[in-house]
Amino acid sequence: MRIACVGGGPAGLYFSIVMKSHDPDHDITVFERNPAGSTYGWGVTYWGDLLERLHRHDPQTARAISEHSVRWTDGVAHIGRQRTVHRGDEGFSIGRRRLLDILAERATELGVDVRFDHEVRELDQVPQADLVVACDGVNSRLRQLRPGEFGTAVTEERNKYIWLGTSKVFGSFTFAFHETPAGWIWFYAYGFSDELSTCIVECSPETWIGLGLDRADEDRTLELLARIFAEPLEGHALHTRTPDDRAGAGSEARAGSGGGGGGAGGGASWLNFRTLTNATWHHDNIVLVGDAAHTTHYSIGAGTTLALEDAAALADALGRHRHLPQALASYERERKSALAPVQSAARYSAQWYESLPRYLRLTPPQFFTLLGQRHSPLMPHLPPLLYYRLHQATEEFGPVRSLRKWLGPKLMEALPARSGSGSGSGSGR
Ligand SMILES: Cc1cc2nc3c(=O)[nH]c(=O)nc-3n(C[C@H](O)[C@H](O)[C@H](O)COP(=O)(O)OP(=O)(O)OC[C@H]3O[C@@H](n4cnc5c(N)ncnc54)[C@H](O)[C@@H]3O)c2cc1C
Repeated sequence: MRIACVGGGPAGLYFSIVMKSHDPDHDITVFERNPAGSTYGWGVTYWGDLLERLHRHDPQTARAISEHSVRWTDGVAHIGRQRTVHRGDEGFSIGRRRLLDILAERATELGVDVRFDHEVRELDQVPQADLVVACDGVNSRLRQLRPGEFGTAVTEERNKYIWLGTSKVFGSFTFAFHETPAGWIWFYAYGFSDELSTCIVECSPETWIGLGLDRADEDRTLELLARIFAEPLEGHALHTRTPDDRAGAGSEARAGSGGGGGGAGGGASWLNFRTLTNATWHHDNIVLVGDAAHTTHYSIGAGTTLALEDAAALADALGRHRHLPQALASYERERKSALAPVQSAARYSAQWYESLPRYLRLTPPQFFTLLGQRHSPLMPHLPPLLYYRLHQATEEFGPVRSLRKWLGPKLMEALPARSGSGSGSGSGR
């Protein structure tokens, strides 16, 4: 097959790897607009079951990702001056740039033609191909060139966030919640190398304006946030771009993954996450993969995993079906159904953070428990303490667990539909 992939992110590169390992005769070109070794963002998280799945598709890639990942088990929450620690499942993180280097190297080794510095702006720039894979992220140019064909819908989440890095290396997945005169502001942070951690700061638009972050330039923003979070950061600075951001690809984060909006004066870029869905994932010989097809709120840390899984599922479907339309339809069916609970979990998680003050009256251990349960469709409808007690009871008493499982969907059916809500649960950070 002759295949053109537009976008050399996790989705495009991994798709090309799996296709080539199925059949080395495939002729695959990946067009990536950034130079090699340059990307937006910092580290990303994932869970151990992803490694098992990657191993099935290409053990070499799975081993390289595993070797370069950081592991953690504990979750730490700083609420004001109080610090709470919870033991959790083992989680992993890897630098986005490291991940892309691993994927690009492996793809090239398998014979994929990876062309960096190659932006596709029009369809006639894509060479004749049996299949064109649109893996060019949330703002997919290929998707936008076919307006109306995919049924794209975008919801902008309410809170403001900024994707930063810090030299403070967090050994655990760390949350810090801080109350200011303008309201609560918080971060999620995790180490992804020996030197750096991701630090995503979030707050309501009222707090953002109240703190003057809507008007602050980059230096002032970083200085203010470092001061607010001086204790959990142990005095380390915050950064908007990695020390080796060669092409200034950090600026892509301004309009990039889940992006939209931005800070004043071209400084630090505060965004509102955009949840994107598409009614149809393929049209003619063009297929959407990864963020081009769907996004899920960063607070569940799943977008990269989903992009890699889309890529593998598309390659498998193409291997199973001789006819392209059947393969694309099968891929879309399979992935939409796998995605539904994760999208629901992501929506509830985003909404949970949007109503954070509701939960901050709890004691730190109670708060941490509900933080871990934030994907629940039931939680927004119950007083937080009642939900907490119900949760504790179910932990201790089996029959109540069954009742809660039964009650969840029943209660959801009985309640009027909330905008942007779905049902189901899912895993996440
Ligand atoms: C704040 C934040 C935190 C996140 N944290 C996590 C996390 O912890 N774990 C996780 O799993 N996910 C996380 N994600 C989500 C994750 O970053 C994305 O879901 C993932 O990168 C999607 O991969 P992709 O390959 O589909 O798209 P992208 O990674 O966006 O790659 C698309 C590529 O296409 C290229 N491109 C775009 N347009 C063109 C063009 N016209 N021509 C050529 N090339 C083009 C871009 O340069 C880019 O390299 C986070 C997202 C955000 C915003």
